[in-house]
Amino acid sequence: MKIIKNNIKLSDFNTFRTGGDARFFCKVRNENELIEAIKFAKKNKIKFFVIGNGSNLLLSDNKFGGLVIKISIKGIMVESKREKYSIISTCAGESIDGLIKFLLKNNLSGIENLWNIPGTVGAGVVQNIGAYGVEFKDYIDSVEVIDAKSFKIFTLTNKDCKFGYRDSVFKKNKNLIITKAYLKLNNSFRPNIKYSALKEYFSKVKAPNVKDIVKAIQKIRKNKLPNWKILGTAGSFFKNPIITGAKYQKLLKKYPNLPKYSADKGFIKIPLGFVIDKICGLKGLRVGQVGLYEKQSLVIVNYGGAKYSDINNFAKMIERQVYKKIKIKIEREVENIF
Ligand SMILES: Cc1cc2nc3c(=O)[nH]c(=O)nc-3n(C[C@H](O)[C@H](O)[C@H](O)COP(=O)(O)OP(=O)(O)OC[C@H]3O[C@@H](n4cnc5c(N)ncnc54)[C@H](O)[C@@H]3O)c2cc1C
Repeated sequence: MKIIKNNIKLSDFNTFRTGGDARFFCKVRNENELIEAIKFAKKNKIKFFVIGNGSNLLLSDNKFGGLVIKISIKGIMVESKREKYSIISTCAGESIDGLIKFLLKNNLSGIENLWNIPGTVGAGVVQNIGAYGVEFKDYIDSVEVIDAKSFKIFTLTNKDCKFGYRDSVFKKNKNLIITKAYLKLNNSFRPNIKYSALKEYFSKVKAPNVKDIVKAIQKIRKNKLPNWKILGTAGSFFKNPIITGAKYQKLLKKYPNLPKYSADKGFIKIPLGFVIDKICGLKGLRVGQVGLYEKQSLVIVNYGGAKYSDINNFAKMIERQVYKKIKIKIEREVENIF
């Protein structure tokens, strides 16, 4: 591993394309290199921060005087096969699409609805990524981590990870760095097309196969989301609010068309896109080079050259508008850094 000391432009390493220079930067390809990099940071008394593909970050344009460690640990394999399921191991630096391609080749299924999420496996665990009715947590058996404080390597079970809606223990404890995940995948394919967009897409197809699902998701996402290779974005900027039944009933009196989805423990999830578009009347709002993506209001777009502060201020303005209308403090899905 080589620690690069020449101020590296972080805007090249995240999909929002903001960020100042990092004083130190490295890519780690295995556990030993990761430990070496953390030791370098500790020895030099500087902060460190790990990234995957940088697709869930809003980076400050200030210079980062520490070390950015890009997790590039690769490798996927089938570990064991039982009657109904198989256990596979995947290193943290594998892309989600690369993992799904591997599963398709090995006739394994379960997470195909997560197709086209532009992140890595490690961050997918941190974030408990989800799309089209599937959450990563439902297929995670255990996770291997390195504790950056003690350098101990250990395994966390699915329960230890304390997964929630775009949440896990790793968001609270930044010392736990994921190196590998063990997933439990189905040997036989059962399509998960309960999500409304998929239900509609497959209304005329009786028994879609796994490749049909991937194709459908690719099409649906293409129509709904910006192409992150062309426009700066980190996907959904905000989480959909989760509220009590009583709060929902109160809102319903004022906004009779407000949709709802059931969430864990009897709570209700409301679509923030609807709130932004229909209740706040902000659909497609643009201020300078920052805006809400016209086909999906949860997505903020950097149309080119927007700074961290432009995006952050724009997001704050949306947060204020939503609070003003429905008295809910919305949370960000995207992480503000430095
Ligand atoms: C166009 C677009 C569409 C998207 N669609 C979806 C979607 O449908 N569903 C969804 O859930 N998300 C979606 N996202 C968000 C994003 O892709 C996910 O959150 C993804 O998991 C981020 O992965 P990453 O590798 O880019 O992580 P990064 O952005 O690099 O990092 C995210 C966080 O994870 C931490 N991290 C990274 N690797 C590790 C590791 N190995 N160990 C510990 N911590 C680590 C980082 O420190 C940081 O805190 C979308 C983003 C874009 C741009």
